[in-house]
Amino acid sequence: MLTSTGSRVAERHRRLGIEACLTKPVKQSELLDTILTVVSGNSRRVAASAPGRGRRKKAARPLRVLVVEDNPVNQELLVQLLKRQGHRTEVAMNGRAALAALEDRGFDLVLMDVQMPIMGGFEATAAIREQEKKNGGHIPIVATTAHAMAGDRDRALATGMDAYLPKPIRANELYEVIERLTGRVIDEKALLEGIGGDTKLLRGLVRVFLADYPRLLARVRRAIKSKNPEALRASAHALKGAISNFGLPPAFESARRLELMGKSRRLRAANETYAALRQDIGRLKQQLRSL
Ligand code: MN
Repeated sequence: MLTSTGSRVAERHRRLGIEACLTKPVKQSELLDTILTVVSGNSRRVAASAPGRGRRKKAARPLRVLVVEDNPVNQELLVQLLKRQGHRTEVAMNGRAALAALEDRGFDLVLMDVQMPIMGGFEATAAIREQEKKNGGHIPIVATTAHAMAGDRDRALATGMDAYLPKPIRANELYEVIERLTGRVIDEKALLEGIGGDTKLLRGLVRVFLADYPRLLARVRRAIKSKNPEALRASAHALKGAISNFGLPPAFESARRLELMGKSRRLRAANETYAALRQDIGRLKQQLRSL
């Protein structure tokens, strides 16, 4: 949490878990510096409790990111955090400007605010997904919204957004979600080495997996729907085994978590993990197809 205050109460704020205090009047540059320090996890309190978590090495692959955001401070924050990872950015002030930018320029990722004038994030996302139905492709869209409520998250995912980041944005969370949505999930070289360099065999494995996984995924979904722990354990285990032919991508971890939920008969978070599994498998599928 960030607050502006006189210095008298600064100590009390620190005790309450407020990580940085600004003295009014606030200069814009000072405000931004403070926000960047806090979200990067570089403030003293955070550094003391979680050493080394703040600064990260640059992203493996520089991306072109479209930042869709009407608030100038949030724009600047996101642009600077992305630059730190070596990404290139462009800013659109609202959903309509985002649609125009996406039309003729190649982006790898969209960070999408929800509340914006002219066209909001949900409407813009629906339009982008509609367009993709005709033209193909799937650009990862991350919702960024101050409405940190469960209903908003569900609505973001239902609208076709791939992930959800509550504001205030934390640098580590931002970098993690980008890595999850854009990072390579399979190591083609290692896969080939594992099967003696036989590209024909690899293609065959991919073909069988792509034909077979929907059935396995449907079994997992039915087990969750009928609240059957043993069926969840068995179906998630089978899916995990099929995925493991392609290394240990995030989909493997999601399937493993569902298997454990079945085993321990605790299905409370199963729906959420299933949603993550579907996304993970979507990314795996995308990359398997491009082999
Ligand atoms: Mn906004």
